Amino acid sequence: MAKTVIVTGGSKGIGEAIVRTLSKEQYNVVLNYNKSEENAKKIQKDLKNIDIIKADVSTRKGAKELVEFALHKYNNIDVLINNAGISQTKLFTDITDEDWNNMINTNLNSAFYMCQEVLPNMLHNKNGCIINISSIWGITGASCEVHYSVAKAGMDGLTKSLAKELGPSNIRINSIAPGIINTDMNKMLSTEDRKNIIEEIPLGKIGEPVEIANTVKWLIENSYTTGQVISVNGGWNI
Ligand code: NAP
Repeated sequence: MAKTVIVTGGSKGIGEAIVRTLSKEQYNVVLNYNKSEENAKKIQKDLKNIDIIKADVSTRKGAKELVEFALHKYNNIDVLINNAGISQTKLFTDITDEDWNNMINTNLNSAFYMCQEVLPNMLHNKNGCIINISSIWGITGASCEVHYSVAKAGMDGLTKSLAKELGPSNIRINSIAPGIINTDMNKMLSTEDRKNIIEEIPLGKIGEPVEIANTVKWLIENSYTTGQVISVNGGWNI
């Protein structure tokens, strides 16, 4: 029987690649988006066999509506990918309360809300797999991205502690910590910035979204891995 997977922020970048990769396998894919409705509709038109649903997962209400939609249609949720996220570059001293709260709500609280909303079903089934898309910056910390780094480190903390709590119920939870990946999130980088970053990466290139999607597929299929933060960064941080 096909497994049901929810991908938050599936309308572009890494989330879109995850949706496209999993739609080729035996999965019912529920693509969540917030602002990029046209993109979401285009992906659905391309793939045909996926659902799309608008929901702001930075709020409890949005997370609840998304999970209710998936449960109503498929009865079960087997896999949750917490991918939705934003980034912002600012000096720590310039970060406003609004910037901070927006970052934490979108990149960390969304995972808290989504996990709480899917868990009653997963606990009932004694089966589930959750993957949090965190970041290299959650591990190393990033200058001028303190709020982003804090949110991603928090996500990895959620992964490790929930893995201990949920392991006995056969629910696995892991993080994937990408390095730099070719998406809109990095479109503000100048050619010079890109060149400098690439020089620091042993594999000598910026990653592609599909390389994260392939790791997601591997983690879903790998039944003995839980509580881990898997770095996919071309060796940028070893
Ligand atoms: P992206 O191309 O900017 O895509 C971000 C996605 O998140 C979009 O689909 C967006 O949906 C969604 N999103 C944002 N706020 C949302 C909300 N409140 N509710 C629902 N969806 C929301 O960025 P990306 O590079 O693919 O990033 C995906 C994830 O990977 C993020 O968590 C990011 O932090 C992480 N990451 C990225 C990199 C990188 O180098 N690109 C590195 C490390 C980690 P809408 O446009 O529809 O609002």
